Amino acid sequence: MAGPWRSPALAAAVARLEDEIRDAWARLRGGLDVAPGSPEESELAWLVVDDPGAYDWRTVDGAVDRLTCPDCGARLTAGPATCETCEFRHRMRFGARERDRPHVPPGNEHALRVATAVTRSRHRYSPRARVGYELVLPDLLAGALPTTPQAQAAKALINTLADDECDRVASLAEVVELARGR
Ligand SMILES: [Zn+2]
Repeated sequence: MAGPWRSPALAAAVARLEDEIRDAWARLRGGLDVAPGSPEESELAWLVVDDPGAYDWRTVDGAVDRLTCPDCGARLTAGPATCETCEFRHRMRFGARERDRPHVPPGNEHALRVATAVTRSRHRYSPRARVGYELVLPDLLAGALPTTPQAQAAKALINTLADDECDRVASLAEVVELARGR
């Protein structure tokens, strides 16, 4: 995943998640004695994306990353929003398992995987949708989980921003500053 990301904190969080996704895939592949880059690796990746509910979401995302879309030729799910196969596979990966890490509030892992999916497929979302997920991603990765009122308050502030402002802000403090008096 190439940047540029809206903040160093987001860039660091994305880099760590990309490592975790790559490692999760390498563990599954290695455990089955499948060589990287082999036709068998592709076959395994298709098996995983066809049955996401049997695997952790990092493994499923790792499988997606190994595949090319048969319809548009882009990396699977990375094609244009109009590619139905990419859209279908993007939605399907939400069926993967998500298990909360130790010492985090219940629901953190769900929020983390949704925010990660949005960040990895940001062209499928509006500027307003992606800013909300991208601003909170580093905190989610650190183990925090905003309360519903906190999330609603942030959303209300974000809703006062124009699209170009949404894509520019690097922190919730900037959102608060821009929203002031609107
Ligand atoms: Zn496609």
